[in-house]
Amino acid sequence: MSRFVPRLPSRRSVAGAAALLIVATTGVGAQRTRTAGVLPAGARPSLVVFLTIDQMIPDYFARYGAQFTGGLRRLQRGGVLYTNGYHDHATTETAPGHAATMSGRFPMHTGIVRNNAGVNDKDHPLVGGGGAGASPYRFQGTTLTDWLIAADPRTRALSISRKDRGAILPIGRSRQSVFWFTNDGRFTTSSWYADTLPTWLTVFNARRLPHQMTGSAWTLLRDPALYSEADSVPVESGGRNVMFPHVLPSDTAQALRAIGDDPRMDWLTLQAAMAGVHAMQLGAGPATDVLAISLSTTDAVGHRYGPDSREIHDQMLRLDRYLGVFLDSLFRIRDSSKIVIALTADHGVQPFPELHFAGQRNAVLRVNVEPVLAEARRALAARGVDTATALDFEFGMLFADSMAFRRAKVSMDSVLKSLAASLRAVPGVARVDQRRDLAAADTVRNAVPRRWIHALPASLNVVMLVSPKPYVYWNGVTYATHGSPNDADARVPILFHGPGFARGVTVARSVRVVDMAPTLARRIGVLPSERLDGVVLRDAFPR
Ligand SMILES: [Zn+2]
Repeated sequence: MSRFVPRLPSRRSVAGAAALLIVATTGVGAQRTRTAGVLPAGARPSLVVFLTIDQMIPDYFARYGAQFTGGLRRLQRGGVLYTNGYHDHATTETAPGHAATMSGRFPMHTGIVRNNAGVNDKDHPLVGGGGAGASPYRFQGTTLTDWLIAADPRTRALSISRKDRGAILPIGRSRQSVFWFTNDGRFTTSSWYADTLPTWLTVFNARRLPHQMTGSAWTLLRDPALYSEADSVPVESGGRNVMFPHVLPSDTAQALRAIGDDPRMDWLTLQAAMAGVHAMQLGAGPATDVLAISLSTTDAVGHRYGPDSREIHDQMLRLDRYLGVFLDSLFRIRDSSKIVIALTADHGVQPFPELHFAGQRNAVLRVNVEPVLAEARRALAARGVDTATALDFEFGMLFADSMAFRRAKVSMDSVLKSLAASLRAVPGVARVDQRRDLAAADTVRNAVPRRWIHALPASLNVVMLVSPKPYVYWNGVTYATHGSPNDADARVPILFHGPGFARGVTVARSVRVVDMAPTLARRIGVLPSERLDGVVLRDAFPR
């Protein structure tokens, strides 16, 4: 498939455009005030650390906080934690979530709506192979990194994750140092960014830290008496390997593919990040640098064992410890009083329906719309509509090819109307919205239509939205998961820590992940170079 990749504007023209915007756009975005100008260099942080904990939910702070002794405890005690943060978009998946974190914009404006059309890009292969090509070519607009570079071109960014989308999307389109883990056990990048790896990363890869974990076991970090969850829960992990210890395969190639399910993958990611900080002298330069880290094991463990498992409890204790070591190392080489840290997640999670609805007779655990769709496609085929493209369904979104209807002289409107009625009757369906009706829905009191609006760019040929009831999964999903517009999937922690932020404060009001980038921009003293969906969270700053 050929496509157009626009050339990046030169740094000079970005900076020039931003400078013009500072003058010209007063009043665009209600959050801007006259004091939002660029701070004197001495008052600016030297480093912004943006942590995304894949699939972390705020409840983990409440549940396990008393047992935290490391980084999560330090960040919570020394920062401001919003316990009701939301990704206010319907497609609560990894790619759209990461695209929202540092852009301050919803999927309707970043263009990143779902994982399947996220960063996958065969035209930009990985350096050294080891996985599918990836790039931010679908990402539209700018991020905090772009605004910092516009204010001072000496800003540099390092972004690292196990997942390509977790590393790429927080930075946006900028060709920075962006690295992720391959299925042959290395961190690499794609040809979007570079043709070779920097020496420090080649050296890090040559240490073969993941290879050394072959055959090793994930055991409980602490005394088993400190874990209240049952270890043997049959619905976990497809019924196999549900109990500790969880041993990595003794074959190295297999172990490298399985390591993403092990807490030590987060440790590895943090080790690689720290090597990059040292080599790049990140946070030691004249401008504010960016370190974005997305830690993916919480998502892997959550999918496999569920958010109520002993495994997720241990994962959080280990994450807390790894982050503690990481922050200690960082603060040894950089002045902590000049480092701003933010933390959130890319989406939440819903528990296994078997556990959530346990004891409720006749509860609908999974919603199956396939028979209704299959019937609709059969009827369309009989009327001469090319059903290969006419109706495509993915995670609640119905894609329709209006040309296929037009060619067969079949009214799409009437087909969709009767299809919507049939879908509404499917057990487990909460609501079915024709896309064109969303704007008239009560989006103030009902988050679901609002989240659909925020998810869908105008150019996406989605015509209908099917929303499952809370805690009901799509048919055929046997692992714990996320992806729906419901609160459990949308709710994430939002945390700010460091100079200029409130300390030891917990805020319960609802806020949104898209509010993080404008809040950080305000704190740092740079201006977003485009209109954002988020607003500055004023209660993140001391009174
Ligand atoms: Zn996930």
